[in-house]
Amino acid sequence: MSKRLILLTNDDGLWAPGLATLARVASRFGRVVAVAPDRNRSAISSALSLHNILRLHALGEDRYACDGTPVDCVLLGCRSVLDRVPDWVLSGINHGLNLGEDVFYSGTVAAAFEGRLQGARAAAFSIHPKGDLAEAEPWLERFLARWEAMDLPTNRIWNLNFPKGEPAGFRLCGQDSRQYHDVVEKRADPRGTPYFWIGGDSGPTYARGKGSDAEAVFEGWISTTPLHLDLSCQETLGRSGAFEQTFNGGDS
Ligand code: MN
Repeated sequence: MSKRLILLTNDDGLWAPGLATLARVASRFGRVVAVAPDRNRSAISSALSLHNILRLHALGEDRYACDGTPVDCVLLGCRSVLDRVPDWVLSGINHGLNLGEDVFYSGTVAAAFEGRLQGARAAAFSIHPKGDLAEAEPWLERFLARWEAMDLPTNRIWNLNFPKGEPAGFRLCGQDSRQYHDVVEKRADPRGTPYFWIGGDSGPTYARGKGSDAEAVFEGWISTTPLHLDLSCQETLGRSGAFEQTFNGGDS
């Protein structure tokens, strides 16, 4: 097998320490090319720059800063920087957890999905805000040494979250659900004009449901969650009779 081609990105920006850890570990598995945002683009999900130009700045061998989003970075990486679809697209390591519904907002997770859509094996990595990248590093290496032995179907990615402290191991788990508090704050600027700030100080509360990613991480495990892009609701699709009667039936 020829040397693996590995595309790296994140949503915290090219200079984030988590990307450096990811690059160091990934380089043991192939040629690593990093294409990452030139600034923090967290919580930008799958945003795509369709109405402005993109610039790519080469900052050394196989290292590029882009003024676009994480998904832009993956697209530019796969379609322009590299001469073929990479074998792996790795996103992270994000500074902060991506658990439960966080995955919908996360640029880290979105970049992994984009990598998968482009045809690569893809994963997103995040770490507890008080986590230690040095403690996560050997576990990241272990995951990357083994993940090719477990294929995921089309449009699926792995979403991993490293806990605070030395991990107990990997735990296969689903998505939790969470609540944010004091989500929108209204303040006044020095001229008295109101402005708004999204995100309170207290952070999210996770339900920590049984078998969930949040339960795993807060019990000290590495949450290891297979995600898929198909958001259709299987329970409701199984109720086609009720649907027909409700929406296409004669009487209302
Ligand atoms: Mn981030």
